[in-house]
Amino acid sequence: VRKPNVVILGAGYGGLMTTVRLQKLIGANEANITLVNKHDYHYETTWLHEASAGTLHHDRVRYPISDVIDRNKVKFIQDTVTKIVPNEKKVLLENGELTYDYLVIALGFESETFGIKGLKEYAFSIANVDAARQIREHIEYQFATYNAEEEKKEERLTIVVGGAGFTGIEFLGELANRMPELCREYDIDPHKVRIICVEAAPTALPGFDPELVEYAVSQLERKGVEFKIGTAIKECTPDGIIVAKGDDVEEIKAGTVIWAAGVRGSRVIEESGFEAARARIKVDPYLRVPGHEDIFVVGDCSLVIDEETNRPYPPTAQIAMQEGQLCAKNLAVLIRGQGELEPFKPDIKGTVCSLGHDDAIGVVFGKKLWGTKASFMKKVIDNRALYLIGGSSLVMKKGKFKFF
Ligand code: FAD
Repeated sequence: VRKPNVVILGAGYGGLMTTVRLQKLIGANEANITLVNKHDYHYETTWLHEASAGTLHHDRVRYPISDVIDRNKVKFIQDTVTKIVPNEKKVLLENGELTYDYLVIALGFESETFGIKGLKEYAFSIANVDAARQIREHIEYQFATYNAEEEKKEERLTIVVGGAGFTGIEFLGELANRMPELCREYDIDPHKVRIICVEAAPTALPGFDPELVEYAVSQLERKGVEFKIGTAIKECTPDGIIVAKGDDVEEIKAGTVIWAAGVRGSRVIEESGFEAARARIKVDPYLRVPGHEDIFVVGDCSLVIDEETNRPYPPTAQIAMQEGQLCAKNLAVLIRGQGELEPFKPDIKGTVCSLGHDDAIGVVFGKKLWGTKASFMKKVIDNRALYLIGGSSLVMKKGKFKFF
C-alpha cells in the first residue's frame, strides 16, 4: 500500500508541535512526513521582543530544527511556501513543489498595518529573528550616530512603540531595562532618550485586569516610558509619526518606530484563495478548512471562536501548541483509518505579560500575579514550551534559569 504524504508547512509553535507529536505517534512505515520551513531553525516567537531590545542574543531564541525531529520519520525541506493549490493537492515552494494527502498549514503571523500610511515602509515589526536583529542594530546605530554627528539630532534618541497590547508592553519592558546600559555604551545622557508608547484604545493592555494594567503602566513609567493612550497613529514618515487625539494632531519626530499593534495570518492563505478574515481561516471543530477535509490549520493562521464570548481566541503560542498536539492525534487517526477525530477544546491556563526579566503581570489558574512571582511564572512557561517540543535536553540547552 502507498504511504500517505503528510506535509506540514511552518516550524513555529504549531507546526513543530504537530511534527514532534506525530513522529511519536506513528511508525516510519505508516506515512511520509515532510516539514517545510523558511529557515533551518525554529525560533521562540514569544521571546523575540527580548532579542529586539537586545536583552537576549538572537542565538538564544533559536535552535536547529534537526535537534528535535526524527530524521527516520520526517523529511525536512528548507524553502519558502508561496501558494497552496487545494484542487490539485499541491504546495508550491520557491524552489519546487510538493503533493500531499494531508496538509497542515502552520505559517504563523505577519504584521497588520490596517492601511496606515507609511507603516510598512518606515516602521519595524517584531516578526521574526531577522527583524529582531535589525531592530536591535537600528537602535544602536541611531545612538552611535547621535554622537558622531556635528549637528545633534535628538530625535535619533526617540523610540516610538505603536500599540500597548501584549507585544508592545513586553517590548517596552525590555527596552526600558536595556536603556541604562545602552546609554553607558554609547555615551548618551539618559535624560535625552525618549521612549513613547502610542495606543489608540482607551487603556493599555485592553482586556487585562485593570489593577494589573495600572501596575504595569506605573512600573514602565517609573523606568521612563511615556504613554499616549487614546491616541491613534495616523501616519508614519521617514522622520517619525503623526498622531491624533480627537482633533489634536501632533508630529513626533523619532529615529525608530516599532509597530506592535496588529497581526494577521500568512499571505499564503490569501494567495491560495481560501476564505479568511485577515488571512486567518475559521476552521471546523477538528481544525480543518471547511470544504477541504484534507487540510488542517494550526496557530495564528487559524481562527477558533470562543463560545463563551462569541469572539475569536486571540492568536497565542499557548493555543498554537495545543492545536498542534490535537492535529497530530487527528492525523494519526486518519493515517491509520481507525479511531475517531477529536474536536479542539482549548485549555487556557492563564496569561503572563512580561515587564522585563525581573517583573511581570499575569493571571494564572484564575489567580492574579505581579512582580517577581509573575516573572518567575513567565520563565516557567517559557521553559515548558521548550520541554513540550524538545524534552529536558532542549530545556537544558535553551532554558531560562536566571530567575531574578
Ligand atoms: P510562528 O511561531 O510564528 O511560526 C511560523 C513559522 O512559519 C516560522 O518558523 C516561520 O519562519 C515559518 N514561515 C512563515 N512563512 C513561511 C513561508 N511562506 N514559507 C515557509 N515557512 C514560513 N503568545 C503566548 O501565548 N504567550 C506570550 O507570552 C506571547 N508573547 C509574544 C511576544 C511577542 C513579541 C510576539 C510577536 C508574539 C507573542 N505571542 C505570545 C504570540 C505567539 O508568538 C504566536 O501566537 C505564535 O508564535 C503562533 O505560532 P504559529 O506556529 O502560528 O507561528
